[in-house]
Amino acid sequence: MDDEPFVRYLEDKVKSTIEKYGLIGGGDRVLVAVSGGKDSTTALYVLKKLGYNVEGIIIDHLLGEYSRKNLSNIQSFCSECGIKLHVVYMREEYGYSTCYIKSVLNSKGVRVNQCSICGVMRRSILNRKARELKASKIATGHNLDDEVQTVLMNMLKGNVYQSARLGPRAGVLDSGKFVPRIKPLYFCLEAETERYSRIHDFPVVYEPCPCSLDSFRTHVKKLLNGLEEENPGVKYSIINSFLEILPDLKAHESGGAVKECEACGEPSSRRLCRVCEITGAMRSVS
Ligand SMILES: [Zn+2]
Repeated sequence: MDDEPFVRYLEDKVKSTIEKYGLIGGGDRVLVAVSGGKDSTTALYVLKKLGYNVEGIIIDHLLGEYSRKNLSNIQSFCSECGIKLHVVYMREEYGYSTCYIKSVLNSKGVRVNQCSICGVMRRSILNRKARELKASKIATGHNLDDEVQTVLMNMLKGNVYQSARLGPRAGVLDSGKFVPRIKPLYFCLEAETERYSRIHDFPVVYEPCPCSLDSFRTHVKKLLNGLEEENPGVKYSIINSFLEILPDLKAHESGGAVKECEACGEPSSRRLCRVCEITGAMRSVS
């Protein structure tokens, strides 16, 4: 496919995903969680182009040069596109960088992986900031590859019900404090968002996060790419099967009442939210 029809194809796919799953309605104010990478930059750009009311938000995880480059890239991108950008600094929110948390916990024998710390902190900060900014939706740059990887990882780890919180509209918690998270790039392959980003010459770093290199996700990603090469379309098959059983997974998980974390008051399915578990562990070992 030539570049011009490809650009239209991807934008149409995003639009039909939004319409089919009711991701964004007329009055929605959408906060797009950006990282400076190709996926979230593409999500922000396409939503703006489709005429939605969008602002960007980036969390600086303080991972050295990688974070600095991503931050300056997204700042120049947003000012060029006339999009308001909010910047949140990890150390101001929690007093520690993600790397520091991981190294302290690991040195004390608490097994925890960088990507899960980053993901937990990120989701919590985004939810809180979205409420403060009166945004009605949080959009992320998750693509089809990310979602298939997560579905498979949950299966491989024996946590199939954890996938209940996935889908184009994420989350199982129905709480006034919980801002719905949406994934407009749900049916876009990673290779497609990369192509879209390169065609537009977006200022992004294409290398993965330096801290993610040893993670389980990288193995699963390689496995899936190998499968896709031998069986084109296998990623779509997995996600379509998953979407068929997703309502059952959600029904299974929605039994308990939504709780609020006893320590911080954020919505949580448990007594303490995972952020407070992590920060509690930090206090107990330091
Ligand atoms: Zn908490």
